[in-house]
Parts: sequence; C-alpha cells; structure tokens
Amino acid sequence: MDNCSKPPAGFSTLCIHAGTHVDTATGGACSPIFTSTAYAYPNPANENIYPRYFNTPNQAVINRKLAVLERGEAAVTFGSGMAAIATVLLAHLQPGDHAIFQNDLYGGTLQLINRELVRIGVHISWGANVAEFADAFRPETRLIYVESPSNPLLRCVDLQAVAALGKHHGVLTVIDNTFATPINQNPLVWGIDAVIHSATKYLNGHSDMNAGVVVASTAIIRRVIGTAVNLGGMLDAHACSQLERGLKTLALRVQRHNENAFALAHALAVHPAVARVIYPGLPTHPDHAIAAGQMRGFGGMLSFELRQPDQVDRLLSRLRIVMPALSLGGVESLVCVPSRTSHRMMTPAERQRAGISDGLIRVSVGIENEEDLREDFHQALAPE
Ligand SMILES: *Cc1c(COP(=O)(O)O)cnc(C)c1O
Repeated sequence: MDNCSKPPAGFSTLCIHAGTHVDTATGGACSPIFTSTAYAYPNPANENIYPRYFNTPNQAVINRKLAVLERGEAAVTFGSGMAAIATVLLAHLQPGDHAIFQNDLYGGTLQLINRELVRIGVHISWGANVAEFADAFRPETRLIYVESPSNPLLRCVDLQAVAALGKHHGVLTVIDNTFATPINQNPLVWGIDAVIHSATKYLNGHSDMNAGVVVASTAIIRRVIGTAVNLGGMLDAHACSQLERGLKTLALRVQRHNENAFALAHALAVHPAVARVIYPGLPTHPDHAIAAGQMRGFGGMLSFELRQPDQVDRLLSRLRIVMPALSLGGVESLVCVPSRTSHRMMTPAERQRAGISDGLIRVSVGIENEEDLREDFHQALAPE
C-alpha cells in the first residue's frame, strides 16, 4: 500500500501556515514570542490573558494548528502528554464513576489509572477490542479510552465502532493518537470525541522538549480548560514557539517515517535472525485490515522478535546509527527492549500473556536514509 505513506493533500501547507500569529509589527514570517505573564486588566479584547489560563498568543498558535490538522473545532496545549491525559480524565471522572480502558496502553497512562484514578474512587474495566469494551459497560460508565496503534505491539482498534459504542451509551470516547499523528489518522472524523497527543514525540519531532495537546469540540475543550486552570501544567511561550517550528515539518517527516518503517519492516521480515515483525502495514499483523481501513500511513513504529532472545545485547551493542534509548517519534532512529523498560514491572508470566517476550525489540524508525538503517540492522544482526 505505497500510496498510504503520502500525507493528505494540503497537510504540508497547513503544517507550515495554519494558526500562525501574523507579525504586523515587523512583517516577520514567524509567529513572534510573547513572553508576558502579566496582561492589561481589563483586557482590551475582554479576555483575561494569563499563561495558566491556557490562552496566551503562543499557546493559541499551537491550538489553531492542531485543531486544523486533527479536523477538530478547538484544542488546548499542555506542558507534557501526561498533563494532557490527566487533565482530560480528571475533567470527566469523579468518585463512583466507571471508565473502560484498552489494556494495551502507554506505561505512564497505566500508572495514572492505577495510582491516581483508582485512589480517588474511579472504577476501571479493561478490554482488548470493541466487543470487550461493550461487555464492560455499566450504568455508571462515563468514558472509553483507547490507544491505536498501541505500544509496543501496535494493536489497532476499530475507531468507528468505538465511537458508535460511545454514542450509543452517551459516554465520552478518547484516543491517545500519539503513534499515528494527525498525518496518518484523524480519529475525530471517525466520530471519536477527544484526541490526545504527546507532542513530545512526532509533533515536535526532535527529541528536545515535552508537550501535550488535546483536540475536540469547543464544548469539550472548554470543560478540559476549566479543570486545566486548576491543575496547572501549561506550556510556556518559548516552548510553544519551539513546538510550532517542529510542527512545520510534521507532514514531511511523517511521510519519511512511514516510508522508512515500511521498508525496514519488509527487510526484517525476511531476515533469518528475526522470528517475526510487528507492523500494522504488514498483512501478517493481526489488525492490518483495521489499520488499512482507518489510517493513511502505517507510521514509524515497529517491533520485531529475535529468534534467539540471548542475542538482544549483542544487537544493541553492534548498532552504529540506531541508538538504544527510551522515547520515540524523533528524527533519529531509536531501539528499546520493552521487557526491560515499559513492561519491566510485570512478572515474566504477565509479560508472556501480554505478548512481550524477552527478545522483543521496539524500533522508532527515524528519517535517516532508509538504506543506511537497513544496512545498520543487517551488520548488527550478522552471525559472528
Ligand atoms: C510519551 C507518551 C505519552 C506521555 O507523554 P509525555 O510527554 O512524556 O508526558 C503518552 N502517550 C504515549 C503513546 C506516549 O508515547
């Protein structure tokens, strides 16, 4: 599915131009940075501006750009992905409520649920797919939360079916769309209510800042900001400007991430040292049909399993370009071993049930030359 790797028409233009704060003072091409934390009161435009009210000019630039890219009405920008996730959940859940979560989630989100939501008396159910979400419904259910593709097995859920289930029961549907990016997938178009991104990853794309974004209807964003003002967790003007710069190349970068990951997935799939490759763009992936139906490109994340798990350290030490590191979504290719990082708190039996073997390697495929990445894995996987 080669055409799948191209960004939709107009997205490169939107990444560059949407939301820019036009500099009328100098005619500069970039949004100026507004550093004030004190603004005239009463404000001439009748809005009380303050960074922690999530309404400064540089926050507004990111909000406008992301709302357009995610096909939503409004957006709000946070200081991290976790600040965005925590605020959305706390804005919609209270003691006694019940929420349904996909069981394959980012580790930080799992901790937020198990440590904070449970502590304040929110009841939790877990499910792997739409049928299991439907079974979990109770009268006090308020929310369904998914991640698609998920970490590290790149499981995808049918977003249209999740949205229909939520609408049928009158509950909010939320997705962490970090792995897909708005270039590859627009969940609001399928009827999902709120989209969250860790902008730390692909949106900024250069592994040099933390940020988060929520995109939804104006009504939902108003409610999220109502809670956000009390929790803090905003992004300052300089960081907003840096994120804006990163976003200008998002469509270009994601196209290259898609192409590189697609090519590397195919190369690793036929390598004798590799037992299996997990990538939504491969027909062998269990959710390939779902991914092909709702994603325009299959993204830059892939995982693979070594035939011999005891060769993991040898592989990591021999890679020359690809760096063993946490995090993902930057221009540089990174690898990590989920059994030692995101899933190290699980027992070996729990990991086996979750499909996380000791020989599983996760790759955040960067935008280097594709041949160089393939060659790096080939030389690192070569027999002694
Ligand atoms: C990194 C990540 C987060 C958390 O983002 P931070 O910016 O580190 O707070 C949430 N979800 C996913 C899928 C992530 O990869």
